[in-house]
Amino acid sequence: MLVVMRDHASREQIDHVVEILTDAGAQAHLSGGEVKTIIGVIGDREVVYALELEGLPGVEETIRVLKPYKLVSRDFQPDDTVVRVPGATVGGGAFAVIAGPCSVESAEQMHAVAAAARAAGATMLRGGAYKPRSSPYAFQGLGLEGLEMMREAADAHGLPVVTEVLDVRDAETVAEWADVLQVGARNMQNFRMLDELGTMGKPVLLKRGLSANIEELLSAAEYVLKGGNRDVILCERGIRTFETYTRNTLDLAAVAALKTLTHLPIVVDPSHATGRRDLVAPMSRAAVFAGADGVMVEVHPEPERAKCDGPQSLDLGGFEAMMDGLLDLLPLAGKRPGVA
Ligand code: PEP
Ligand code: MN
Repeated sequence: MLVVMRDHASREQIDHVVEILTDAGAQAHLSGGEVKTIIGVIGDREVVYALELEGLPGVEETIRVLKPYKLVSRDFQPDDTVVRVPGATVGGGAFAVIAGPCSVESAEQMHAVAAAARAAGATMLRGGAYKPRSSPYAFQGLGLEGLEMMREAADAHGLPVVTEVLDVRDAETVAEWADVLQVGARNMQNFRMLDELGTMGKPVLLKRGLSANIEELLSAAEYVLKGGNRDVILCERGIRTFETYTRNTLDLAAVAALKTLTHLPIVVDPSHATGRRDLVAPMSRAAVFAGADGVMVEVHPEPERAKCDGPQSLDLGGFEAMMDGLLDLLPLAGKRPGVA
């Protein structure tokens, strides 16, 4: 349930409602600004409905939420969530460009990518240290050593780090080295991990599952917000369809739909969505006009030698060319580069 308070409801009125809710064993999550406060209620439906909150001073109305998510919904928070990390901002008009290799392979590779990414206008550095691979015999990532290499390169070039938490057991370690914790497509419904990331105080980049629908993606994000972490960035990275020319099918309609359903920022990953480097720049441009709050692209100094996802990776010149065609479009879509 959502409790919508009257404009300029007093602190005492808000606290009173919260107290009644917590006494009844429910959780109260507040959103809104100086004028309007909305209280998102999580708890036993029957108990909460029986509280008859409409009659309380300062309460405008209560809204029963039938969807499986509440806190991520625009009804709960009409204003865009803006996620801030040291050096970068995503959402509320700030457009993120997250660039880097599929996997961290060496210190030299990360320095080369970080330097070129920064020079071309990227706002964050990505790279996998723990890799989800379909085959157990494929390169699994450098682990902690990879995290250290990426952190060093990112700091040298003033970029925040985005990297994947593959397993809940690695979450603490990854959080020590990274600024944004990525949940990969294959882990989107790893609910124990989402719970854990909800309590960790680091922004989360949640990738859409290979066959997850929009409601499932939002419900997964709800787990993180319910834990107390409001800094979630959604990522559309393509879904499985009958089409095989592209690796996945980029669902840009989902991006436009999500912008109306949720206040959370959404980035598009055209690299995994298409699997083809020639489609990364045009799909990045399309993402801007679909309403995305950023793109995440794979960039490698020598894609032909990449240990992972070379065919979809741009080389450094390719990334620069992509950025040349992208940055000029941002103002046309009401966006600006998401540098802090
Ligand atoms: C990645 O971004 O490195 C990745 C593995 O992507 P996904 O989880 O979307 O397949
Ligand atoms: Mn990849």
